[in-house]
Amino acid sequence: MEIGANQQTPAGCVPRQDVLIMEPAATIRAIDIIRKKREGGQHSREELEALVCGYTSGAIPDYQAAAWLMAALLRGLSRAETAALTDAMLHSGQVLDLKEFAAAKVDKHSTGGVGDKTSLVLAPVVAAGGLIVPMISGRGLGHTGGTLDKLEAIPGFQIGLSTARFREVLHACGCSMIAQTAEIAPADKKFYALRDVTGTVESPALICASIMSKKLAEGIDGLVLDVKTGSGAFMKTEEATANLAELMVETGVRMGKKVIALITDMNQPLGRKVGNTLEVEESVEVLRGEGPDDLRTLCAELAAWMFQLGGRTRTMAEARKLYEELIRSGAALAKFRQMVEMQGGDPATIDDPKRLPQAKHSAEIASPKSGYVSAMQCEAVGTACVLLGGGREKKEDSVDPSVGVVLQKKVGDAVNAGEPLCTIFYNEESRAARAKKLLLESYQIGDVKPAANKLVRRLISKSE
Ligand code: URA
Repeated sequence: MEIGANQQTPAGCVPRQDVLIMEPAATIRAIDIIRKKREGGQHSREELEALVCGYTSGAIPDYQAAAWLMAALLRGLSRAETAALTDAMLHSGQVLDLKEFAAAKVDKHSTGGVGDKTSLVLAPVVAAGGLIVPMISGRGLGHTGGTLDKLEAIPGFQIGLSTARFREVLHACGCSMIAQTAEIAPADKKFYALRDVTGTVESPALICASIMSKKLAEGIDGLVLDVKTGSGAFMKTEEATANLAELMVETGVRMGKKVIALITDMNQPLGRKVGNTLEVEESVEVLRGEGPDDLRTLCAELAAWMFQLGGRTRTMAEARKLYEELIRSGAALAKFRQMVEMQGGDPATIDDPKRLPQAKHSAEIASPKSGYVSAMQCEAVGTACVLLGGGREKKEDSVDPSVGVVLQKKVGDAVNAGEPLCTIFYNEESRAARAKKLLLESYQIGDVKPAANKLVRRLISKSE
């Protein structure tokens, strides 16, 4: 890949002639960077650039990168280090220039949740409203699901488009959903896969650098961040969540983008379906104007903010109305179908979700007693899905798109002893046994109906 106008050469790296295969500067050794962070030291910008380009080019192996990630997670990164890491990851590849599009370019990204399939609704609905959505997403991370794994449940769907094809789809369709590539956000592509399986996800600095490096590479004007809080989120407390949201908003604003963050509840899965096939199915339900209330409400709110940041509407009331109209008219669903077709996916799965990969077996998990669902251990629900084969335990693992969980009961629902709390969909008995145990433990049944949790907690924004 040539170093073009949108490509900077990080100071801690040495480009090999005019190609973007960079070696860390010989004077900066990976072992010294790891030891420095292990001892709680502060990295210079050059050190972080050397680490990022060294790992991206393959000069630094997985085991050294993993050791540094763990040191960074345990010791933390300062705001200056986080900014330098984000910049280095952003400039590990191209920053897209989408100025040829007259309409505003906007996107949304979530910090990761269970049952969170809003991206599959938002990209088409916002494109149907006339804005451009160049969405670069991630795979499942830890116990959380990933947009790319969901899209790949659609037979034939290609997430690895070249930059040229990505542009073509954007021109024809207004939205395209792809993975980080060797050209765009390559550092995040590698760090993301490594963090997934090394217990190094839950660091605000690493999350900020991961999300903002790929979002800023998209060439967008505006970004809506859905920052999850609660038992199924990477940030369990509202204070930690707000800090992460502020860090990311600040990063976006520093780069001249319009960015807002919504802090939203993740104390139970979003919607009723968890697992890749199941989540595609539920996204299509929402695009048809059906589906569960919490998922519909959050999609409407996030889409409305995307319309606002893109200057498509003047007020939030107008933006919410536009969202409802695009769903009601079928324009959003038609846009989803168009994108699926253009990216090689089988559009027949949209009309008939049974054509998506199906698990061989299902089993209901019955409530041990009568009462109300008072709480759920949401991370355990995500982990159960990973155990069923819906996520990765090692980098090389492939995911089974067909497995997952359908929740018959959620927080606040009344339940009788013996009634199903949820149904699991699985292919292997040994995996199912572990998942069942975890799911049963994740439900708390009490005598009193709990107060409803607020879905959208607060807005975090910052003026330039
Ligand atoms: N989403 C990302 O893209 N990266 C993270 O680290 C967490 C959520």
